Amino acid sequence: MSSHDKPRIYLSSPHMSEEGYERKFVQEAFDSNWIAPLGTNVNEFETEFATKIGIRAAAALTSGTAALHMALKAAGVGKGDIVFCQSLTFSASANPIIYQDAVPVFIDSDFETWNMSPDALAQAFKKYPNVKAVILVHLYGLAADIDKIVELCKKHNVVLIEDAAESLGTSYKGKMTGTFGDYGVFSFNGNKIITTSGGGMLVSNNDERIAKVRFWATQSRDQARHYQHSEIGYNYRMSNVVAGIGRGQLKVLDKRIAKKKYIFEYYNHELSELDDVMFMPVNEWNSPNYWLSCMVLNGKVRPIDIMETMEKENIESRPIWKPMHMQPVFMNFGFIGTGVAEKIFENGICLPSDTKMSDEELSEICKLIKGIWQ
Ligand SMILES: *Cc1c(COP(=O)(O)O)cnc(C)c1O
Repeated sequence: MSSHDKPRIYLSSPHMSEEGYERKFVQEAFDSNWIAPLGTNVNEFETEFATKIGIRAAAALTSGTAALHMALKAAGVGKGDIVFCQSLTFSASANPIIYQDAVPVFIDSDFETWNMSPDALAQAFKKYPNVKAVILVHLYGLAADIDKIVELCKKHNVVLIEDAAESLGTSYKGKMTGTFGDYGVFSFNGNKIITTSGGGMLVSNNDERIAKVRFWATQSRDQARHYQHSEIGYNYRMSNVVAGIGRGQLKVLDKRIAKKKYIFEYYNHELSELDDVMFMPVNEWNSPNYWLSCMVLNGKVRPIDIMETMEKENIESRPIWKPMHMQPVFMNFGFIGTGVAEKIFENGICLPSDTKMSDEELSEICKLIKGIWQ
């Protein structure tokens, strides 16, 4: 049997509940013909989601990117405003800054968290005192050094937006990521820890701002019998079918986190003794969702060696996100840092972290990786 006859092992792919919860909620939407617009599933998904993470209000949207866009708009970010954004992240953290005609300045990470460095952020506040908002990311499900970042943002009276797209279910000192800033953003894209095929959520303790986002996201229709608009609108609202999948997935979030943690610990147990291997940092105040298991290689074996070995066996792995300040599209914007994000990118690799993996598959992956060191 050639390796390509084997089913592919993915980095992280959709995993519907064994119990069929998603199907039941979607079926209800079909049975009542409420497949769109909005409807019970959307309202219930918002309420159930807000309860699950411990926040007052949530708006279900078409994507995490749309949620970030609406967060910036709700924060009053507009033309020419400066926004600090973590550099080590996926491009969707930064693109909405440009949608708002604002100006990103990218902030380095630190090795302790892989997320925004409080020192670099403090320095950035000195250089750009008129900054309007900060976008903090909790990469791969690891919480950032939140207390220090929150304190700095409060001190400078700046809106904090948490991009928690990868960290649903991660807690920091017992409180869920996405609930510390003024706004929190989540994604249900196909590769996230739970998925609705595509979708996002914007959360906040400010109900009024969330109500306003729902208004903008449904084309900004004023209260009037005829169609009247006093503001520019967006078509960003989640459909009732998609929300049904979300309600079902939310029921298995804890189970998915448990499996992701099991995968991380399996790798850690099998691979951490290899020369020059360091796993992503799990700090004592951090209870991650372990969305992806990642490590850095500081020796002769390079990330590409692992990726090529895996690809031959039809197994997916990938590099760490390429920092935004190194991206051709963002190269001309400011950057504050000392090269930490660059080093994590150059040496880092994301291992297959699919929750449908069996122990046999995990064992095969570890054997393949260990083989490279021999
Ligand atoms: C996935 C992701 C997003 C974007 O979410 P979408 O739902 O795909 O638009 C934003 N930020 C980070 C860090 C992500 O990983």
